[in-house]
Amino acid sequence: MNCPNCDSAMSSMTLEGHIGPPVTLQVCVPCQGFWFEMFKSLQLAPGSTLKLMKFIGENSSSARTSAAEILHCPVCRDKLLLTHDWQRNTPFTYWRCDREHGHYIVFFDFLREKDYIRPLSPQEITKLRENIQVLNCHNCGAPIDLAKGSSCEHCHSPVSMLDMQQPQRMLAQLKGAASRTPHFTQEFSLIQHLDDSDYDWWKDVSSFGLIQVGLNMVARWLSRIAD
Ligand SMILES: [Zn+2]
Ligand SMILES: [Zn+2]
Ligand SMILES: [Zn+2]
Repeated sequence: MNCPNCDSAMSSMTLEGHIGPPVTLQVCVPCQGFWFEMFKSLQLAPGSTLKLMKFIGENSSSARTSAAEILHCPVCRDKLLLTHDWQRNTPFTYWRCDREHGHYIVFFDFLREKDYIRPLSPQEITKLRENIQVLNCHNCGAPIDLAKGSSCEHCHSPVSMLDMQQPQRMLAQLKGAASRTPHFTQEFSLIQHLDDSDYDWWKDVSSFGLIQVGLNMVARWLSRIAD
């Protein structure tokens, strides 16, 4: 199956479903996007969503292929429709086939759809400003001058980070996982990182962004659990 955005072949992944059969999806790493058959992203088991989060952490980069003007359904080749949706207070977008073949969603919006992204609190913004002047918008890549504000002037996305409570909640839902969960509170509290003055950490945040640094942490943490 070819990528709706760049038309190269996508690779397929099969993950455990929530109640039904396994869920197969397609991924294009250069475009940082997933293609799901109709409703399939809702059928992912919590463990599968965590696996995708880890996959995103290991495969995301700021150098993604930019969005094409017109995206085509990999099944019927019809033009996909840009769709706006909400996950609680978080807007996210994806492209869907009007003939219900499925939808294409970029990594970042997938994280938003799964409620993994949250805007920073005013206290966190203040802390961030003390350490960093400019941050790239995770949504569109434009630089955000923290002295001027805490959202992107270009696409209006607020400065956001990974909601670390979410992977922990999901993991708690996994049967038997609780006893195998290593201590993560220390490593996982971004607030704690915002409070210490670890130079490398801030350097990483300014070059890769808060979300990417959070994703790297989650990926490392999940690899340890899998061992
Ligand atoms: Zn692609
Ligand atoms: Zn279609
Ligand atoms: Zn932006």
